This record gives sequence, C-alpha cells and structure tokens, in this order.
Amino acid sequence: MAQAGDINVIDEDIYRERLRLALEAGGLDLWENNLTTGEVTHRVSRVFSDLGYDEQASLAYMDDLFSLVHPDDQLQVKQAIAAHLAGETRQYRCEFRLRAHSGEWLWYANYGKIMDAGERLGRRFIGVTFNIDDRKRREEELALANQLLAEQNRELDRMNAALQVLATTDALTGLANRRLLIETGEKECRRGPRYAQPLSLLILDIDHFKCVNDRWGHPIGDRVLIAIAELCRSRFRQGTDVAARIGGEEFAILMPATPYDEGKRVAEWLREAIAGLRINVDEGITATCTASIGVASLPAKDGQTSNAAWDFEHLFVAADRALYQAKAAGRNSVCGTEG
Ligand code: GH3
Ligand code: MG
Ligand code: MG
Repeated sequence: MAQAGDINVIDEDIYRERLRLALEAGGLDLWENNLTTGEVTHRVSRVFSDLGYDEQASLAYMDDLFSLVHPDDQLQVKQAIAAHLAGETRQYRCEFRLRAHSGEWLWYANYGKIMDAGERLGRRFIGVTFNIDDRKRREEELALANQLLAEQNRELDRMNAALQVLATTDALTGLANRRLLIETGEKECRRGPRYAQPLSLLILDIDHFKCVNDRWGHPIGDRVLIAIAELCRSRFRQGTDVAARIGGEEFAILMPATPYDEGKRVAEWLREAIAGLRINVDEGITATCTASIGVASLPAKDGQTSNAAWDFEHLFVAADRALYQAKAAGRNSVCGTEG
C-alpha cells in the first residue's frame, strides 16, 4: 500500500518533469541568485552551452555573469535589479547582450522576481533567461528599414520641393511663372472677399520687343528681360505680391490688399523705370526699351458686391484689355480699369 510520503515523492517527480518540459518548450533557462552575497545558487545551463562555453565555466558569482554582459547594457541590468529590489517594479525584466565564446554578441531577456521578503530580502532572486536574438535582429532590421524609409521620404520631400520650385519658376528671370500667378490669383480671389480687401493686377508687355532682339541680338533681349524682372521684383512686397513672367516679353504683378490707385501708381513707377533702363551693349552703346502696362482691380467687397465678381479670370481679362488700350494709346503708357 502506498504511503503518503511516496505520493509526495511521485508528485515532486511529476512537478519536476512538468517544469523541465515547460522550460524546454518555452526555451527558458532557470536561474537563482542570492543578491545579498552575489552568489549564483542555480546557474543557467542552456544559455551557456548556446553561447559556446563548456559546462565547467566558472560562474559561481553574479559578477562572473556581468562580465559577459555587453558594457553598454550593464548599467540598465543593474538598474532593473535595483528597481525591483526597491519595490518599484513587480517583476524584474531586462534585455541585454551576452558575449558568446566566439566573441559575437547575442540578445537575451531576463524575467525574474525576488521570492523572499523582510530581512531575508534578495536571498532568493529567481527567474528565467531566454534567447531573443532573432526578435532583436528583426527589430533592428525593421528600425534600419524605417530609418532608410524616413531618409528616402525626406529626400522625396526635398525633391518635391525642388520640383515645385521648378514647376512654378521662370528659368530665365527667376520670377514666378504663369501657372503660379494663376494659382495664387485664384487663391486670392477666394480669400480676398472674406477679408474685405481689394486685389490689383498689373500686366506689362515690352513695346516692340521684336525690334530690340532684331537690333541688339537675342542675348541682349534676354538681359532686357532680366533687368525688367529685377524692377518688378524690387516693387513687390515679399510674402504678399507675386511678380511673374507670363509670356515671352510679358510680365504681371499680383498685388493683394492693394486698391486700384495704388496699383496704378506702381504701374506708372514701373513704366518710368523701364524707360530709364540702360543696358550696356558695347562700349558707349546702350539698349533701351519701353513697356505698356494694363492695371485692373477688384474693389474691397461690401454688401453689394457679389462673390461672382471676385473671379481671377475676370480680373486677368480686364488687365489684358487695359494693356491693349495702352498699346493702342501709343505704347509706353499705363491704362487701367477698376472693378
Ligand atoms: P508689341 O509692342 O506689339 O508688343 O510688339 P512686340 O515686338 O513686343 O511683340 P511681338 O509679340 O511681335 O514680339 C515679341 C517678341 O518677344 C518676339 C520674340 O522673339 C521675343 N521673345 C519672346 N521670348 C523671348 C526670350 O525669352 N528672349 C528674347 N530675347 N526674346 C524673346
Ligand atoms: Mg506680347
Ligand atoms: Mg511686346
């Protein structure tokens, strides 16, 4: 007949077997340390054979283990133990690299718990170690891939920004191109009425520019275009106005929050400044030119103005019509229309 003691022996064997199976299935290695003496009371075995050390390796003290931990990880291991010992964490958890016999660093995780309390605190520090090298390497690869992706995205943003500049800039003069003028004009027409501000547009066409080219040559014609672009630029308010080259020898300046009178004043100033330009061709020889300018404005919106009147195409056509009036009036002149 079986004795009570026999059953305990059998139970213990069964438990031991179950524990061994559970540890093996989970790839876990059991350890136990005495934090008060620094002794290893139950040493891991699988970890050390995995790392290529033989069974006899001296690992009697925790410091022997620490000597295998990567120098960059040692502090956080000690901090995790100290935090657990101080009762700040319910469980000790830590991830670190261990040096294999081959010199390679492999990632492991440690989960543990102090099993005793009171004065004996820290004498039974028990836990498991398991290999997380695959996971860590996948994480590192993923982090690297993400970093690469982020760099590529930044490069793409830079390229898009450069492309955006190219797509909206006139190559010869560096002013905005027709597309940007229209885009901004349409935006201002949506915005302007809400803020009850007027919007002025000025379109400029060089007079008999064909003759400038014919007489002085195309490169001098280009220098005339660049000089006029500079004059347009000098008059626009940074961040508000848009000066654009909208055709071969045609320019435009969009002036938000600018009433008709002010727009006309800018046009007059420009006309005069262009007529006063002297482009050096050769020693003692200078090229000159004049321009005709059309001005149109949308007045600040009040109760009577309909939103439909605030239309950029409408404004553009009005300024273009005024330009042709200026041409018809003999060129080197400014014509305009309000509203
Ligand atoms: P109008 O007073 O009626 O405007 O006469 P115009 O000669 O200025 O007008 P037209 O449209 O007959 O000629 C425009 C000229 O502008 C013809 C073209 O060769 C010249 N042009 C267009 N783009 C450029 C350019 O980028 N550089 C140079 N140098 N000339 C250009
Ligand atoms: Mg023209
Ligand atoms: Mg012209």
